[in-house]
Amino acid sequence: MDRLWSLKDVSFGYGTTPVLQEVSLELRPGHCYGILGPNGSGKTTLLDLLSGLLAPQSGTIEFNGRFLHSWPKKHLAQQLALVPQDFMVRFGYSVREVVEMGLHPHLHRFATPSSEDLALIEEVLELTGITTFADRSVTRLSGGEKQRVAVARALAQQPTVLLLDEATSNLDIHHSLEILQLIRKRFEQQGMQVIAVMHDLNLASFFCDHLIFLKKGHVVCQGPTEEVLTPETIATVYGVEAEVTPNTFTNCRQVSFRLPVNP
Ligand code: ADP
Repeated sequence: MDRLWSLKDVSFGYGTTPVLQEVSLELRPGHCYGILGPNGSGKTTLLDLLSGLLAPQSGTIEFNGRFLHSWPKKHLAQQLALVPQDFMVRFGYSVREVVEMGLHPHLHRFATPSSEDLALIEEVLELTGITTFADRSVTRLSGGEKQRVAVARALAQQPTVLLLDEATSNLDIHHSLEILQLIRKRFEQQGMQVIAVMHDLNLASFFCDHLIFLKKGHVVCQGPTEEVLTPETIATVYGVEAEVTPNTFTNCRQVSFRLPVNP
């Protein structure tokens, strides 16, 4: 299949205020899409529509050739994993127990994880660098540690699509790059699709091969990163002047900004 998602004229609002307006997108498997745009432009709402947490008020969302709302919840959970902005676990589960929750959509009711499942858990704990505190309660972790647990749980779900909502916002630059790199490795090795809401244009340039720019609920521009990450797009979307240059050190495009000199 050449596309995994097909969104046609999707509109959504909370109450009477429109938040997304006539969004149409075709998203192919094996790509890493970045959703970008100013605060309040509808990025998280779009992700919540893709994960099935919200339903469009008009328009349609098809996933894998079938309307998203017609997928049984358990089947959808086997395909989609979401790393939310604020990962909250209220009870005192250990880190390992929370990561094991990622297996649930694949287990039969009351079944216990197999030795392969447990090996997968150890692998993702190791990959995300959280093995050392795997037995600690999740309520006693820093924001950045919790975020790595959320990514580990999502990877344990072995999804076809990984939805990330500013998954690196609480992480220092070392951990941000490490997490993005390991996610990218997974998507390159296993063909997992990634759809990531991102704030930082330079991290998006490093991580995403396609970018979708939203402004006031509309898709302003979308396409391959090297085509759409331009000073013109950035000026239109964010209202700042930008310079975009190839960077031989990082091997991706580097963005510098300033407020307009003559606004
Ligand atoms: P972004 O992720 O781009 O910052 P959001 O999708 O979070 O944007 O929000 C888009 C708009 O919808 C904002 O104006 C926000 O205040 C509003 N909004 C988001 N969630 C809710 C909600 N649960 N109830 C009412 N308004 C909301």
